[in-house]
Amino acid sequence: MQEFTPVLTDKRWKIQLEPEIGATWEKKGHYTFDHTKDAQVWSIDTPPPYASGKWHLGGAIHYTLIDIIARIKRMKGFNVNFPMGIDRNGLPIEVQAEKEFNVSMRDVPREDFLRMCKELLDKYESQIVDMCRALGFSVNSLEHDGVYRTDDPGYRALTQETFIEMWKKGLIYESGRPNNYCTDCNTTIADAEIEYATAPTQFVHLRFTVKETGDELVIATTRPELLCSCSCVLVHPKDERYAHLPGKHAIVPHYGIEVPIMTHREADPEKGTGVVMICSYGDSTDVRLYRELGMKPVIAIDTYGKMLDVAGEIAGLPVTEAREKIVQILDDDDAIITKVRIKHPTPICWRSKTPIEFIPMPEYYLKQVDHIDTIRDFSKDIEFHPPNSRQLLLDWLDAVTVDWPISRRRYYGTEVPVWYCTKCNEPHVPEPGPYYQPWKDKPPFDTCTKCGNGGFRGDERVFDTWMDSSISPFFITGYNRNEELFKKAFPCSVRPQGKDIVRTWLYYTLLRGYHLTGKSVFDHVWISGHVVDEDGRKMSKSLGNITYPDPLIKQYGADALRLFGCLEASLGSDIRFSEERLKGASKYVQKLFNISRFVSMFPLVEDPADVELQGMDRWALASLNKMVADAEKGYDALDFLFPAVSVRSFTWSVFADIYLEAVKRRAYNSDGEFSEAQQKAAWFTLHYCMKTILKVTAPIMPFVTDHVWTTVYAKTTIHHEAYPEPTELAEDAFTDLTGTITQLLSFVWKEKKSEDRKKERPDVKLNLRSEVAELWIPPSLEPFILDIKAMHNAKECSIGAPASEEGYLVAEVAPDEKAYLKVWAD
Ligand SMILES: [Zn+2]
Ligand SMILES: [Zn+2]
Repeated sequence: MQEFTPVLTDKRWKIQLEPEIGATWEKKGHYTFDHTKDAQVWSIDTPPPYASGKWHLGGAIHYTLIDIIARIKRMKGFNVNFPMGIDRNGLPIEVQAEKEFNVSMRDVPREDFLRMCKELLDKYESQIVDMCRALGFSVNSLEHDGVYRTDDPGYRALTQETFIEMWKKGLIYESGRPNNYCTDCNTTIADAEIEYATAPTQFVHLRFTVKETGDELVIATTRPELLCSCSCVLVHPKDERYAHLPGKHAIVPHYGIEVPIMTHREADPEKGTGVVMICSYGDSTDVRLYRELGMKPVIAIDTYGKMLDVAGEIAGLPVTEAREKIVQILDDDDAIITKVRIKHPTPICWRSKTPIEFIPMPEYYLKQVDHIDTIRDFSKDIEFHPPNSRQLLLDWLDAVTVDWPISRRRYYGTEVPVWYCTKCNEPHVPEPGPYYQPWKDKPPFDTCTKCGNGGFRGDERVFDTWMDSSISPFFITGYNRNEELFKKAFPCSVRPQGKDIVRTWLYYTLLRGYHLTGKSVFDHVWISGHVVDEDGRKMSKSLGNITYPDPLIKQYGADALRLFGCLEASLGSDIRFSEERLKGASKYVQKLFNISRFVSMFPLVEDPADVELQGMDRWALASLNKMVADAEKGYDALDFLFPAVSVRSFTWSVFADIYLEAVKRRAYNSDGEFSEAQQKAAWFTLHYCMKTILKVTAPIMPFVTDHVWTTVYAKTTIHHEAYPEPTELAEDAFTDLTGTITQLLSFVWKEKKSEDRKKERPDVKLNLRSEVAELWIPPSLEPFILDIKAMHNAKECSIGAPASEEGYLVAEVAPDEKAYLKVWAD
């Protein structure tokens, strides 16, 4: 009798092999990107993760899904450009450095502070790179070239170069208009960086006096601390209650300032008392009204969020304290009528969650308002995944009303490459190319082009970090650096990103792309959901519900975590973390290994000419074809729920539970009941299915599939294989019979295990392999009769129905199709 020993010798899948396998990929340079190859380039504009802390599960799963994009595109024959970048510019690292080194940014020399930031960035970066390795990312840059960094001189030089280009095109201007200002971050911020939070606050009804009549005028406000900067009082032109007031003056309580009373549509008769005071600046409406009405603002809050001298007794206090104090003072003055607690949406800073103020500050602006319609047009040619995520962009485009302030009063960022004449203040931009640090570099000019003076002062500001991030697709496709690559790789194939940064990263990139090339930047945009905790809450430090991936990878393996990330939600929906479900995914990884190990016992037959395929084989191949096609649909849509579900359910429920059981006897053929060609057909089909399953699974579970592949099938990696084509050896119509086959199998198995049978013959030990006397199967199952007879160990197996049902167990295995079973011989 022939002995069968598995080629896969380990009894279980060892997740400890994952790092070893990953190291081999890196050593052999499996994912190196070489743009000179013939195949069409597919560029992925990987979001450079920010190096300010450990990745939590959300980051790990998000990037895993992006890695699956790269892997499937490689299998589809593309030359995949999948770089890994690290975002290292901007505020979060400065805040972190201040905390860890216990310093204040502006109190240490700039040079020293930058060094502290860099030290931390390097530490966090290496943690991220380790995580990329642990998760098995197929990025082209972990191996030889290393990751790219947004604070590399080369990267920053490109940011500056693109700024200079836009400067020369007249797209940049400077303005001192009041803008969103974060007093914590100490800098102007763009509208795109603002969120709204609903916070409780007091709606205070204050007693003003009409100067001319001495009447009381009640005004409700949430910002009483700004009374000192009140410049006018407005009523609605149609509000008859106040028709007698316009042209007169109001006297501000406590401060005694006289301000004009005017009509304006902005005063909403329904809100408060219908009378509003305009201060510099309580909100963006105030900013607009000051501009419209040509009023001179009184600046009441400094850049650290403290009240200025003009505020009198409350000067020097932070805004919230000042608000409490002035309410007390006004109470003492008897100037308050009522105080009502209300909740109202407050604009807050995206990063520090601080309520923003409106503070005038000279900043550089990039024109965007005039180009919104073009960007909207571009978006029509981009394929969004999922399709409804396009709306996130369109909604934001509708909300853009002011140009983008791009300069920031911070340190760790790309410097604004501008020098000013010390005499006439004329700004000068240098030649594009090198990386400039105007706060410390010697000016690259001799004399002022305007006045001939020889002295220059370098700009000390840096750019908004989105100025750097928004050129990533240019950086990775060799813009202005590698013409050949740029021709092949631009526009970029896909921008994968989270939904929370559509209005910043995606929008700004499209804007920059338009300014630089006049073209759209991406063919596809892929937007994934968030990972939330078991109760559906977003993971955050303040809620204390963050899950880190490291211990999970240690316990369940990266393949399991990757599979979990695919299985839990369709693209764009939030993924709810559940350790129980992750454990379930890891069971499947083990199952796949077990099945592979079983199949690896049998000799590899690859030529169908040597074999005599049976009905069961052609049915398995047909079911396989269907799975390959279903999975491919999901892969093409870049939505991996469907491929993961299809391949798992085929492998487990069809291949393992039915086919393997059905052909076991034929594959072993220990009793010699099958011909050699029939036995080999089982071997052929087992391996054919196994190889196909491994290939379809490879993008999702790259470790275990590569291990099985290189141990059982080939010397070279599975990750250079093409996505499987359907096989013509299948009998596609047989897939209609899957239900009937399953019903028949479970009917016989159930009866063999049933208590009733045990009672009938307590002396006989029935098991699934035990012989049964007689089995009748419906005519539709005729092509499978040999394997059915063998797997159920039926002494007699016939087609149709016995003369009488008497003495038979009967089951309906399909509508109007019955099977008859006699367990015991008469
Ligand atoms: Zn802030
Ligand atoms: Zn000058």
